[in-house]
Parts: sequence; structure tokens; C-alpha cells
Amino acid sequence: MITLLARRGRAVISFDQLQRKARLMQMPAPDPAILARKAEIVARLLQILPADAVIHDATETRAYECDALTAYRCPPLAVVLPRTTEEVAAVLRICHDEGVPVVPRGSGTSLAGGALPTADSVILGVSRMNALLEVDYDNRLVRVQAGRTNLSVTDAVAGDGFFYAPDPSSQLACAIAGNIAMNSGGAHCLKYGVTTNNLLGATVVLMDGTVLELGGPYMDAPGLDLLSVICGSEGQLGVVTEATLRILPAPEGARPVLIAFNSSEVAGACVSDIIRAGILPVAIEFMDRPCIRACEDFAKAGYPDCEALLIVEVEGSPAAIDDQLARIAEIARHHDPIELRESRSEDESRRIWLGRKSAFGAMGQINDYMCLDGTIPVTALPHVLRRIEEMSRDFGLQVANVFHAGDGNMHPLILFDANKPGDLERCEAFGAEILRLCVEVGGCLTGEHGVGVEKRDLMTVQFAPQDLEAQARVKDVFDPRWLLNPAKVFPLSLSQGRRAA
Ligand SMILES: Cc1cc2nc3c(=O)[nH]c(=O)nc-3n(C[C@H](O)[C@H](O)[C@H](O)COP(=O)(O)OP(=O)(O)OC[C@H]3O[C@@H](n4cnc5c(N)ncnc54)[C@H](O)[C@@H]3O)c2cc1C
Repeated sequence: MITLLARRGRAVISFDQLQRKARLMQMPAPDPAILARKAEIVARLLQILPADAVIHDATETRAYECDALTAYRCPPLAVVLPRTTEEVAAVLRICHDEGVPVVPRGSGTSLAGGALPTADSVILGVSRMNALLEVDYDNRLVRVQAGRTNLSVTDAVAGDGFFYAPDPSSQLACAIAGNIAMNSGGAHCLKYGVTTNNLLGATVVLMDGTVLELGGPYMDAPGLDLLSVICGSEGQLGVVTEATLRILPAPEGARPVLIAFNSSEVAGACVSDIIRAGILPVAIEFMDRPCIRACEDFAKAGYPDCEALLIVEVEGSPAAIDDQLARIAEIARHHDPIELRESRSEDESRRIWLGRKSAFGAMGQINDYMCLDGTIPVTALPHVLRRIEEMSRDFGLQVANVFHAGDGNMHPLILFDANKPGDLERCEAFGAEILRLCVEVGGCLTGEHGVGVEKRDLMTVQFAPQDLEAQARVKDVFDPRWLLNPAKVFPLSLSQGRRAA
């Protein structure tokens, strides 16, 4: 139920551990009839796609065995890399006809195992579908093929003073398809919302090859809001091939301020006071001492020496920025910060954000860790941070915190030694406790990384049986044979029962 990242340059996870994890993951046994027909299925795929778009050799499919949740791996039956919606529809028709499961894949940066294959499934990767189809400044939108990377959308319009707001820290690599499937967020989503708030339309292909056009170049499309159903559905309902995205005019200016505290709890209290005051910064990010150290080493951002740090960014005209920062400083002073420092230059601001956005990678350079993703009401931050500290002592494992504090989306990183017997299991137990705590205080199991395989069996902590059943019925409608992205999101007992029925 936890994201496991490996320490660089070290064989962190032994084969034994991988085997043990694989058993714990309980993926459904592959269908032997499908495995036996592999050559036949590949031959059919080769009839509709060029040879370089169908990968079936075991050494070449290795790159697709896992996503960024690297602890869980499985070689797929085959990988297909179509270039158009029509090719996607043709692939899905064949797989539907053959009863072969399909796992949609963007760039494979999921931290929840969302793109993990099963041995009898075909990975449908959209990385070659990366065209910019339309830029319409008058109506403030762009249309892209879904394999286009997140950052390249902003890059395409930045020269004309526009940007695409959702900014996952993985934005250099992750695809719009994955962002839509996971309803991804980022540091600057406090003000602008997450993917669903910036998505106007999508082309979606159902498992039987039917092509749907949802939403369009306008707000509030008539009829049932199926676009919202697709956004965040983690590849369970259809394959997204194109998207219409809202772009925004870039602000006149932006400036972050660093506010340093002697305790995480006090920093948490400061966050809710800023929000309560009615100020809406673009971002309020939190880092504690272990993360600050790692990010400082990496980015030389000039972070203060403190227990907890808030990065608060505001934007607008120079006068609006000064006014907001003055109000934020006044609120912060009530919490006795040990330092409060505004960025003094573009370069300093860039380094402040580089450090924050590199946090996962920087921590991975110095420690093995598991990354959690849960959301809580902002007012619960001080309580939850205190409880995590207590649990950290109980479990005997250190935690580093780095998260989007403004919207209560937490990412505790549990530090451990992958080579020490028992550490991994303690991490998993600790992680599950933290996620239960998130639900207990009125929050939820995920904020932006999705459920995937990681949290599917914790869904019963969040949802009553009738709630899960209602969600399963939606899947029944879009994918009646439960062939799309198997063994994800729903508790395994539920999805296997449905598949067999
Ligand atoms: C270092 C790092 C930092 C990160 N920071 C953030 C962050 O700040 N915010 C955040 O939200 N996430 C973050 N993530 C998680 C990840 O980047 C996001 O979930 C991202 O949206 C996944 O995009 P992807 O293209 O890599 O999707 P993949 O990993 O390929 O797939 C993710 C899910 O989307 C489904 N999917 C993929 N393509 C399609 C499609 N065409 N149609 C339907 N379903 C599809 C897959 O089946 C899977 O369930 C981070 C990850 C890393 C490694």
C-alpha cells in the first residue's frame, strides 16, 4: 500500500524481497489460455500496427514491467504503441474480441502501481501520441494528443504569455493521459485547482473500440458529466487519446516567501491561519528538517536551518504581491517564526522551486523510503503531524514530510533500510496506519497519486460496501467484462468476483 523508491547506486531490494512483495500484492493468476495464444494475438496486432509499434520480445518488454512504484513488477504479454485514436480503437477491438486485458500507460510515473501489467495483459502506451493539435488563445484552450508531456503544454504557449496550471513535480516526464487518469495535482494547484478543474474535453475509447467525445471547447457541457467520471478513473473506464485543456494568461509576477519554524505542528497551524484569513496564495508547500536538508544539498536554494519550512507563493502585480506578502507575514509572526525571507530574485525563486520539486529524487539519493499520499482537512494538519511523530517513535522509523500543505495533501516519506530484515514490513504497517489516520480525521486515502494497486485493499477503510458497489456498477457500464486495467482501484475480492461473473 505504499510507494517504494530505491536508493540510487545500491541494490536496495533483493530478489527475495521482490518475491515476497509479489506474494503480498496478490495479483490475479494469468489466464493460461491467453498465454498459450500469445503468438496468435501478437500476429493480429501486427496486422493493424507497424512492426515497431508491437513489442513482444521479453527483453524489450522489460521497460514496461513496472511504473514508478518499482517494488512491484510483472512482464506483460505484449506492448503496443499506437499513434492515432483509430489505431487505439483497433487494438482495443482485437483485445476485446480475444478477451485480453489491457493496461493503458502514459509515461509510467505512477507512484501507485496504476500502470503495472499482469502477465496476460497488453500494455497500451500512448507515448507516441504526443502532437499539439490546436492552440486557441481567443478561447484560452489547447487540444493535444494524450501522450504529450505535461510541461510541454506550458512550453508550447509560454512564449505568448499563457500556461497550463496543473504542475505535478513529475511534469517533465508525465503525460496528460496519466494526469487525467489520476486527476493529478501539483504545488500550484491550491489556486488553480487540479486536472479536473482545467480539463474541458477528451476523446475516450472504450474497451470494445467505441469512440466517445466528451465535453468540448466550452464550459459546462450539456448532458451527464461523463468527462468528470473519466477524470480520475485510473484507466478503468476507457483509454484517453486526446484532450482539450484550459490555458491561463501568465500572471504579471510571482514571488515565494520562506517561513521557517522550530516545530512542524506550529508550521501546520500557520497554514490554516493563512487560509482562514481569506488569502489565496498560489502555493503553500511544507518541508520538514530531513527534506530541507536533502533538497538544500541538491538545489542550493538557501533554505533556512529549521525544523519546518513553509514556501508560500503569491502572484499578481508588484503592489498586489507586496500587499499579500505583508498580510501573510503578519499572520506568520503570531506563530514566532525563526526566519521569514522573501525571494529577492528570479534566480532565487527558481532555486526555491527546484529544491521543492526535486524532493522525492533528492531523498531517494540518501535514503530508502516509502512515499504516502493522503489528504486531510487543513485544520487537522497540526494534529496529524503530531500523531505521525508519535507513530514514528512507536514504529522506530523516521519520517520526512514534504507536501502541498495549502490543500492538505500530505506525502509522508517513511525512511527505512531495505536491506534490514523486517524494515519493509514495518513500513507497510506504519503507512497503513497513517492512511487510516487521514480517513479518521475526515480526509481521504489519496490526494493525487491515485489508488492503483497500492491502496486498492484499503478502499474499504474509506468506502462503505454500497459506495464501492455503486462505483463498480459504473465500471460494469463502461467495461462490462472488466478487461481494462485489471486488479486496480477496487479491492481484489470485488474485481475478481466481477471478472469471473
Ligand atoms: C518524482 C515524482 C513526482 C511526482 N509528483 C507528483 C505530483 O506533484 N502530483 C501528482 O499528482 N502526481 C505526482 N507524481 C505521480 C505521477 O507522476 C502522476 O500520477 C502522473 O499523472 C502519472 O502520469 P503518467 O503519464 O506517468 O501515467 P502512468 O504512470 O503511465 O499511468 C498512470 C495511470 O493512468 C492510467 N493511464 C495512463 N494513460 C492512460 C490513458 N491514455 N487513458 C486512460 N488511462 C491512462 C494508467 O493505467 C495508470 O492507472 C509524481 C511521480 C514521481 C515519480
